[in-house]
Amino acid sequence: DAKMRGRNRVAFYSPDMAERAHERMAMEQGLMQALKTDALHLHYQPVISLADGKLVGVEALLRWHHPELGQVPPARFIPVAEESGLIDRIGAWVLRQACRQALAWQQAGHPPLRMAVNVSVRQLAQDHLVENVAAVLAETGLAPECLELEITETAIQSIEHSRERLRQLKALGVMLAIDDFGTGFSSLSLLKHLPIDRIKIDRSFVMGLPDDGNDAAITQAIIALAQNLKMALTAEGIESPEQLTFLQRQGVEDAQGYLFSRPQPPQALESLLHTRQWQSMQ
Ligand code: C2E
Ligand code: MG
Ligand code: MG
Ligand code: MG
Repeated sequence: DAKMRGRNRVAFYSPDMAERAHERMAMEQGLMQALKTDALHLHYQPVISLADGKLVGVEALLRWHHPELGQVPPARFIPVAEESGLIDRIGAWVLRQACRQALAWQQAGHPPLRMAVNVSVRQLAQDHLVENVAAVLAETGLAPECLELEITETAIQSIEHSRERLRQLKALGVMLAIDDFGTGFSSLSLLKHLPIDRIKIDRSFVMGLPDDGNDAAITQAIIALAQNLKMALTAEGIESPEQLTFLQRQGVEDAQGYLFSRPQPPQALESLLHTRQWQSMQ
């Protein structure tokens, strides 16, 4: 699409093209290797209900430790995975791993949590995404309503023709969320035609709360929109108690951010899973 072409054009005229191409290739090879050697891991970030401070879900976030590059952030390797097509296999791995983890926690006696999994633009464009999700649900036996697929708003522009795909996913009983809402300039009218359950307010707006008037206005507009469309809301990137208070007063249901917890390996979540309560909000 236009955005991809634009990105390639920028890379084409860039002076460090060779260096970047090399890094890209090394990363692509590294990712292929990582798939084979189990070097990919999922961390999980708690999602907290602002009404009562209860743990209501987690978001699965991919982590990759490269033997030479060290910890590579997803913002760097996901685009490479998308362009090389490796995202299909990586995405399928993430989906299966996250659902297995959700089930493992249930089998350990914890009440069901919402497991949020990120789905990229290219995955959404694939015909087999729906079969893939159906297969993983069947294989793990996870209740479909426990799985929430997060689709970034920038993917929405091309969703006009992916609308059917979202309907098919919805027909499986899974939840659908729009990630990074407010950053993609998608048409607001599109929202009402899509089977979306939840909007995630992007961290870039939460960052300036409560003092930045623009961020406050945008956040309030997004909240009003979601409420009118009867969609649930999650605010991401909450780092301060002041941001929390603002969002709580505006009626945002759920929240994620370093204030509560960073994304963590599954074992590190055990005690929170046990109490299910964010301490300072009892
Ligand atoms: P996202 O889905 O919007 O995930 C939220 C990102 O914000 C995560 O970064 C998380 O660690 C970070 N974050 C959460 N709370 C805070 C906070 O309070 N302060 C700050 N500064 N950051 C916070 P991460 O893990 O680096 O992931 C970046 C992006 O990479 C994700 O954004 C998502 O778009 C993509 N991604 C991650 N895992 C996957 C995956 O399994 N599949 C796909 N397709 N994309 C993924
Ligand atoms: Mg996300
Ligand atoms: Mg997000
Ligand atoms: Mg984001």
